[in-house]
Amino acid sequence: MLDQNKADTIGRAVEDGFDAQIAFTQDLIRFPSMRGQEHDVQDFVFDALKERGYATTRLHMDQRAIEAHEGGGKFSAEHSDAPIVIGTFTPSKTLGRSLILQSHTDVVPAGPHEMWRFDPFDPQIDGDWLYGRGGADMKAGHAAMIFAMDALRAAGLVPAARVEIQSVVEEESTGNGALMTYLARHTADAVLIPEPEEEMLVRANVGTLWFSVELRGTPVHVREMGAGANAIDAAYRVIQSLRTLEARWNNNRHKHKYFNDLSHPINLNIGKIEGGDWGSSVPAWCRIQCRIAIYPGIKAADAANDIEAHLTEFAKSDNYLSDIPPKITFNGFFAEGYVQPPGSEAEAVLDRAHRAATGAPLQSFTTPGYLDCRVYRLYNDIPSLCYGPISENIHGFDERVSLQSLKRITTTMALFIADWCGTTKI
Ligand code: ZN
Repeated sequence: MLDQNKADTIGRAVEDGFDAQIAFTQDLIRFPSMRGQEHDVQDFVFDALKERGYATTRLHMDQRAIEAHEGGGKFSAEHSDAPIVIGTFTPSKTLGRSLILQSHTDVVPAGPHEMWRFDPFDPQIDGDWLYGRGGADMKAGHAAMIFAMDALRAAGLVPAARVEIQSVVEEESTGNGALMTYLARHTADAVLIPEPEEEMLVRANVGTLWFSVELRGTPVHVREMGAGANAIDAAYRVIQSLRTLEARWNNNRHKHKYFNDLSHPINLNIGKIEGGDWGSSVPAWCRIQCRIAIYPGIKAADAANDIEAHLTEFAKSDNYLSDIPPKITFNGFFAEGYVQPPGSEAEAVLDRAHRAATGAPLQSFTTPGYLDCRVYRLYNDIPSLCYGPISENIHGFDERVSLQSLKRITTTMALFIADWCGTTKI
């Protein structure tokens, strides 16, 4: 347990470094690091870690190893080839417990920029809010992990155990970046990932699957439309059918601890639709891109079989689809959900740090979106703490993060590191 003096000194160091931390967060946001475009921001992080004296390394995705793993997302042409960047601090003598701090630098597309109050990649502050695409999710947390470690150093302390700072990619599409760190045998006694989680601990989290459904027909002139099968019309029927699958899975929520109280934990998103060639031909093809969630404890492969069986059955009942069945391709997330059970020592330490930083006990909740923590919980089998700042509109327009909250969670993180790893004087 930290003594009060040490905690106060660390808190002041976070406060003193906070302006620089905001500036660093803004630097990160200026990189439009959408999927496949994370190289520059990863280089920037590499340099920032090297400058601070960490042993730095770049880790590349091993497609074969990832695709052979039960939680690996299938590669597609869009898969990022940006490296994972890792900075490691190793103490001269290990006295405490080791830790991985991890954040992702990939961000989701910004959509039409004119829908934003400010340019999404020109971070602006208004009152307590810092705006920008990827600012909350999760460049604020990314900077927080680096500056929490900086604060310890400024307080004249270093962790008494190994700390790895990991900057990953592909969190928004496959989770393969975090999985790669596991496959490359990076592990520790606990992991902390500062995703924007409202200053709460994620207790349970859904898994996620991405898949496309491709429909083919016979092109004819619209005047003979009765004879031609319209692939776009068929896509509407497939979507309706997938909605019944979604409803069935939502109806199962009472069987899953931590999900009973949520009204709609399983969300099917039809994220993209494309098809047809021009206005006066009956479209011969249509492709929809889908994302669906699964409860913890359900294997991605079992859910995939369920989806395939559901659509195969539906296709048999449909005039058009029974001739040319839909083609289903799993092309991204293939991830199981996780539960971080209460009662771990890591959670007790986080609770103490959170109380010291915020004055309130740590609360936990269930989230219906993908998180990289699943890798550490399911495969490394270590306490996996997802905890980060208050935000609004992540993945939407005017994404923003609360700066006061960011300061509080940075203090929590610094105190957590000091308590979990122990400290020695520089
Ligand atoms: Zn995120």
